[in-house]
Amino acid sequence: MSAETKNFIAGKWVATGSTFGSVNPATGELVSRCAEASQQELDAAVAAACDAFPAWRKTPPPRRAETLFRVAELLKARKDDLARWITVEMGKVTMEARGDVQEAIDMARYMAGEGRRMFGHTAPSELPDKFCMSLRDPIGVVAVITPWNFPIAVPSWKILPAFVLGNTVVWKPSSDTPVCAAKFVEAFVEAGLPPGVLNLVLGKGAEIGDALVRHRDVRLVTFTGSNEVGHRVSVTAAETGKRCALEMGGKNAIIVLDDADLALAVDGIVWSAFGTSGQRCTAASRIIVHNTVRGPLTELLLERIKQLKIGNGLDPPTTVGPVINHTALEKIDRYVHIGLDEGARLLIGGERFSKGDCRRGCFYRPTVFDNVTPAMRIARDEIFGPVVCIIEADSLEEAVAINNDVPYGLVSSIYTQNVDRAFTAMRELTTGIVYVNAGTIGSEVQLPFGGTRGTGNGAREAGQAALDTFSEWKTVYVDYSGRLQRAQIDTETRHKEKPQNENSRTQISSVRPGPGKTAARIRGRFPRQQHRRAHARRNVAQGGHRH
Ligand code: NAD
Repeated sequence: MSAETKNFIAGKWVATGSTFGSVNPATGELVSRCAEASQQELDAAVAAACDAFPAWRKTPPPRRAETLFRVAELLKARKDDLARWITVEMGKVTMEARGDVQEAIDMARYMAGEGRRMFGHTAPSELPDKFCMSLRDPIGVVAVITPWNFPIAVPSWKILPAFVLGNTVVWKPSSDTPVCAAKFVEAFVEAGLPPGVLNLVLGKGAEIGDALVRHRDVRLVTFTGSNEVGHRVSVTAAETGKRCALEMGGKNAIIVLDDADLALAVDGIVWSAFGTSGQRCTAASRIIVHNTVRGPLTELLLERIKQLKIGNGLDPPTTVGPVINHTALEKIDRYVHIGLDEGARLLIGGERFSKGDCRRGCFYRPTVFDNVTPAMRIARDEIFGPVVCIIEADSLEEAVAINNDVPYGLVSSIYTQNVDRAFTAMRELTTGIVYVNAGTIGSEVQLPFGGTRGTGNGAREAGQAALDTFSEWKTVYVDYSGRLQRAQIDTETRHKEKPQNENSRTQISSVRPGPGKTAARIRGRFPRQQHRRAHARRNVAQGGHRH
């Protein structure tokens, strides 16, 4: 068990009068008592983030990035320890927990690189002697609200870009994974992040999370979690005039066409459907299979599922760990009964797993239904557990239509060996992420991550797209003509004065006498009178002397 887990405010670990417990889902044991933040701690955390903002935003981005590079090194050095806390607190198997930490290391390195890029734009002006550019500016205090299923990776997608761009953060992690959150914060502290730049508040979403979203000094809310909570957060943010970035649920599908490599497809299905016990936003929960290969695919899949080993994620042979808590277990079980009532056929699983040591934890058997129609609730709702539906399709077109016809739009995947079908699918699948001949899991930090439809609200995390989520564009015009120049208006006047042969003016102003060329020789290319007129107008346009 860990010592009491505290809030982190203005560079100090802060205990409070009230605590809550973090519980190991594999054993039911208490992992840590955690200090529950009240409005008082929340106000202090937001005030600290406000106070830290002016200095942090003025710190040169390459200096800010150095802290991120140090965070990457610290996470790397502690990868095993952090992975262990992830498994203990939320259950995923050690190999996947290490991947969770690695994602944060990758994101720290990628975003640290932005410290020396963070490119803006220059664009030509429509007026002479005027320079135009746009630069990225930080937004201010960012409220970061995260789920439990990626307790280190998901926060890293938000906190690291927020920092390199010069924002400060108040982070409210899931109350199921407070210890992982505190361990992540420790890496920032040791990396030398100034006090107040990162603040951690622990507690219930409906209380401290909601109060954070409402707080008048928060400028941006970045939320990852369920659709139900995300919509509420979005409404509150809108009512209180904040920017809001949402990443929510998924009902992701793997399409298997009749020309697919079935063994490869089954590898992808097992990894995508049962990794993290199906508790990934990117988990595959629908298999849309061409009717001619449904039989052999199902047979292969059931064979592979029988080889999965359910247990504590810390035990090396385990391939499927527990689900997060009893509420999740009950929800999964409820959906299995909904599926049976809807007329789907249960092929495997469909019950809790409580053999041996697993009796104390929250385990559910990998479950597969077939005879599922696209209209069934088990084919439309996010169950967030190890449950997969097999849906038949007669063609690529039908498979794509089924894929697209759900309220979510995070990931889809297609297995085919036909390049024409693969490219058609890439164009027609309307999710934010598409895989060809790979499962639904495998995002990399250098590319945008996020979903369409009900999965998000258009914002993206990771890659260059994350920079737009965590910064404002500031456009700067510098007029060095020394006189009033009116955009749109003075351009119109000059347009009216345009010489008859506009091309000739362009050529004259772009041709400069070079070695061996004389102005007279250049002039010789144009009729003398036209040249004079154009030359005079060029001078006027550039603010030169009138002849
Ligand atoms: P959740 O919505 O229950 O909680 C998410 C966070 O919101 C938690 O920190 C919670 O305490 C907080 N919260 C709860 N009520 C709140 C309120 N009224 N105001 C403010 N904050 C509040 O989700 P969860 O169970 O932690 O995570 C699972 C969900 O997350 C799934 O739906 C999954 O698909 C989704 N998810 C999405 C992505 C993605 O990138 N799209 C990634 C991971 C998880």
